[in-house]
Amino acid sequence: MSILVVGSVALDDVETPFGKRTSALGGAAVYFGLAASYFTDVRIVGVVGTDFPQPHLDLLANRGIDLRGLQVREGATFRWGGRYGYDLNARETTFTDLNVFAEFNPTIPEEYRATENVFLANIAPSLQLNVLDQMTAPQSAALDTMDFWIEGTPDELRRVLERVDIVLINDSETRELAQEPNIRTAANSILGWGPQLLVVKKGEHGAIAFANDWLFAVPGLPLETIVDPTGAGDSFAGGFLGYLAATGEITPEGIRRAAIYGSAMGSFCCEAFSVDRLAHLEPAQIDTRFREFEHLTRFDYEPLLQDA
Ligand code: AMP
Repeated sequence: MSILVVGSVALDDVETPFGKRTSALGGAAVYFGLAASYFTDVRIVGVVGTDFPQPHLDLLANRGIDLRGLQVREGATFRWGGRYGYDLNARETTFTDLNVFAEFNPTIPEEYRATENVFLANIAPSLQLNVLDQMTAPQSAALDTMDFWIEGTPDELRRVLERVDIVLINDSETRELAQEPNIRTAANSILGWGPQLLVVKKGEHGAIAFANDWLFAVPGLPLETIVDPTGAGDSFAGGFLGYLAATGEITPEGIRRAAIYGSAMGSFCCEAFSVDRLAHLEPAQIDTRFREFEHLTRFDYEPLLQDA
């Protein structure tokens, strides 16, 4: 089954303690799409300006990503800047230039409307609703959001939350959305609004998937090389939802495996600037990393040792 993603396609300026990149390929839909492309067919709906470099389009097309829903508008592409210190979980946004993204009005091409799975990346909830209205009947709809929309348009966001099956957000967004400091209690509130599954991303500490009557925690892989964590959350979402779209395994076992693939794709993303690692993986490397997670987390139950 295919997956359609609607979100930003960007040129990023990123600075980390390990180096600096300007005008690098980025955006939520790009990270998501590349990560998901190792599992299933991906369709991107977004907008870029006429300045968007052709090699970036070629890179996405070479991964088999369908770009017929990517609009090219007169003007400049969305640009975002971020700076990280040694704590890579904390970043400072240095600038956000919306440019053509400010007027983004997602039009789902006729031939995309029956796509089985849809991921609404971090865009205005009103646009997320608009996308859902254009889809004929997706089997699975998922969304991401951010503090800006949680604070600015809570009613619209709540309306989208009532219509999606899966929510992927980070831990601070989870607390803010539910207005509840305890993540587990917050997750219960959010699940009560409609979604079947909430995945709380915790940066380098991995993620927790919450369903109504069970949960599953996946660690982040302690990496030897971390260069740039930009896009890791979207890459997690791409691996997670890409695997579920490919297998249709919306079961506790399938969701556990999806969470491992999500964490694996997030880990690759961090190993280089921009999409330099994420765009050039071999399936065998993803497979090996999946096994690393298995070794990292596996243990056998032993009864508690008692004094003789
Ligand atoms: P992440 O590190 O997963 O939060 O994703 C970072 C990516 O999101 C970067 O490539 C940015 O271009 C993009 N981005 C940053 N701010 C926004 C925004 N307000 N709306 C949409 N995309 C954004």
